[in-house]
Amino acid sequence: MILILKPNVAPESDEYRELMDYLEKLQNIQLRVRRERGAEQLLTEVHLIGNTLALSTDEMRNLPGVRHVVRVSEKYRVLGHHKGDDRPTSFDYNGVHFSQDSLHVFAGLCAVDTRENVEVMMRALRDAGQVCTRMGAYKPRTSPYAFQGHCKSCLPYVFELAGKYGIKVVAMEVTHESHVDEIREALRQTGDPTGVMLQIGTRNTQNFELLKIVGRQQVFPVLLKRGFGITLEESLYAAEYLASEGNRMIVFGLRGMKTSMGDPHRNLVDFAHVPVVKRLTRMPVCIDPSHSVGTRHSGRDGILDIMHAAAQGVLAGANMVLIDFHPAPSEALVDGPQALLLEELPHFLEDIQIAREAYEKRRALARRHQDAMLEQQCGSLVGAA
Ligand code: PEP
Ligand code: MN
Repeated sequence: MILILKPNVAPESDEYRELMDYLEKLQNIQLRVRRERGAEQLLTEVHLIGNTLALSTDEMRNLPGVRHVVRVSEKYRVLGHHKGDDRPTSFDYNGVHFSQDSLHVFAGLCAVDTRENVEVMMRALRDAGQVCTRMGAYKPRTSPYAFQGHCKSCLPYVFELAGKYGIKVVAMEVTHESHVDEIREALRQTGDPTGVMLQIGTRNTQNFELLKIVGRQQVFPVLLKRGFGITLEESLYAAEYLASEGNRMIVFGLRGMKTSMGDPHRNLVDFAHVPVVKRLTRMPVCIDPSHSVGTRHSGRDGILDIMHAAAQGVLAGANMVLIDFHPAPSEALVDGPQALLLEELPHFLEDIQIAREAYEKRRALARRHQDAMLEQQCGSLVGAA
């Protein structure tokens, strides 16, 4: 059970003390308090863990300072959609709004290689009206001999260039807690010219200690990629690890599953799960067609497989698209074969726009259909009465 308190109930207030005195006396119930300080208000949730079936929702609602009571019936306590739950499905970060209704494209380099490539990429994004990008500084690689990323040495110029070209959010994978500190420090040293969304890659989806540390900080939002060889439920629990530590700014990323059935693509595209994740949780959902498809092959219709997959995800309601680009893919140090060319950026964005408009039309059609069904049901009820 979750008690959502009225905004701005301070821990020192009489109301809060009275509430906690009461709750602490409950038998077999543990309390966990979560606070989120937004721009305008302090939001507090008190999670009651244990034998909550014996508690009455009405009684809890009437306790001092309580605005709303949610009985948690589903598995994903913090991130799930629960009955009567009006907690937000959105968050704002550095001026960008992320929700289950919004759509942002994060096109960029899989791995930062040279300052020049970062600059041409950022300039192309600015010219295309984009405010988000992906830039890998820390790369988890299969072989220990492969390029591991420029790590913290590239952060200052990545952030400065992002600021120069009006990029507000850079998605960047971290594989160790020290990377979070390095990012925080590089942003500080460069005067916070941009924001960072910390990415947890598919190899680290169940790195619980990393999840706990990244979840404990509430400065950076997090993009958690689905684990490539585990169930969706296991990956959603991984997201819940982040949230249960306090971070609510979480986007869930689909990036394909490792199975030979995906051949000839790098992974089996799993974007049919976009609506599933949106139904089960309050997280915006990202798709990564680059790491799902992994090649630049195109269909007989002339459309790249990557663009087909991206469109499929957007058509299913995706809220974010993570996509690899490179000014010269043959020279890229990581994942060149799947990178789109800079000249393809306007085409890609237009293709995404077409899919988004189609999704919006489909959503409106479904709503009209639902309304008509409801009207019909009401009509027959009135007729029967
Ligand atoms: C990436 O986005 O660069 C990446 C390594 O992705 P994934 O963790 O999905 O393989
Ligand atoms: Mn990659």
